[in-house]
Amino acid sequence: MSSQTITVIKGDGIGPSIVEAAIAVLDKAGCQFNYEYVDAGLTALEKTGDLLPAATLDAIARNKITLKGPLTTPVGEGFTSINVTLRKKFNLYSNVRPVISFKGTKARYENIDIITVRENTEGMYSGAGQVVKNEGELAEAMSIVTREGSERIVEFAFELARRENRKKVTIVHKANILKSTSGLFLKTAREVATRYPDIQAVEMIVDNACMQLVMNPQQFDVIVTTNLFGDILSDLCAGLVGGLGMAPGANIGHDCAVFEAVHGSAPDIAGKNLANPSSVILASIQMLEYLGMADKAQKIRAALTDVIASGDRTTRDLGGVHGTTDFTAAMLERL
Ligand code: NAD
Repeated sequence: MSSQTITVIKGDGIGPSIVEAAIAVLDKAGCQFNYEYVDAGLTALEKTGDLLPAATLDAIARNKITLKGPLTTPVGEGFTSINVTLRKKFNLYSNVRPVISFKGTKARYENIDIITVRENTEGMYSGAGQVVKNEGELAEAMSIVTREGSERIVEFAFELARRENRKKVTIVHKANILKSTSGLFLKTAREVATRYPDIQAVEMIVDNACMQLVMNPQQFDVIVTTNLFGDILSDLCAGLVGGLGMAPGANIGHDCAVFEAVHGSAPDIAGKNLANPSSVILASIQMLEYLGMADKAQKIRAALTDVIASGDRTTRDLGGVHGTTDFTAAMLERL
């Protein structure tokens, strides 16, 4: 019996249905985790009056590993993004977003295998200096980049590349224009890269990186970049492999990690048994790899690959006609 307890936030909208699917898959694969269920987002607001209750924060801190469904952040002033709050509170400085081609999806490309490593706490999303002045005529926000923050994220990317036997890290920046912030990131990244002579380091300006990703995505292996560029590029990468239904993300700090689907709570299809659970299943695979359970991760990945390639009970976004429960049943049968 595994002694690992996972904090589970089922989330809002389609969250509960896809997270329950992922847990059924983990259990059927024989992972034997304990689960501690807590609330966040709209569900928590309705129950407790708080989007991110103290009991939820305590569970995340205590168990160190969290599997999280998408959360609805109510629109309007006074509600800060729960995801941003979690990243800052637990110093989840790396956002790791892999995209891999699966045969059987309606993706535009084949043979894509790209991991975007995005700095998750600094840059344009630091939240510093956000003001609107001069009676609404002038708005300011501050981008903060530190040597320490840049060094740890670039090191993280090169370590990941080495661990996963990858060959190349592309450092994406805009140092030609953003000379201070992107300049410091690039300078630090160059220094870090010299410590990894076994891995090819390539520098690319962000606008060119967008074009290259669309023209010739197979040239990319691991991408490392600052917060805003990483947010945009990783969604672009998700589009290369068939959209958000196939895109997981891990938020990783020194001793705490939160695994989630990249997509949101999809209120348009919530409660209709239409959601594709693949993103959160892929996030569970990332979680297993993080926990050193590579054999279980491989077993679940093989089942997912087979379900999608054979088109057995796939969901509408994958070109099928089935719902979340049928898709999950097809997964469970293969495990
Ligand atoms: P969304 O990602 O929820 O949905 C975008 C489109 O993709 C919708 O048409 C939806 O039906 C479809 N879609 C998303 N996931 C799908 C799945 N698994 N299977 C099939 N189709 C899927 O984005 P949105 O509508 O802009 O945002 C809805 C809410 O989610 C907002 O409140 C937003 O703040 C929140 N959000 C949360 C997270 C998170 O918690 N990580 C991320 C993004 C958005």
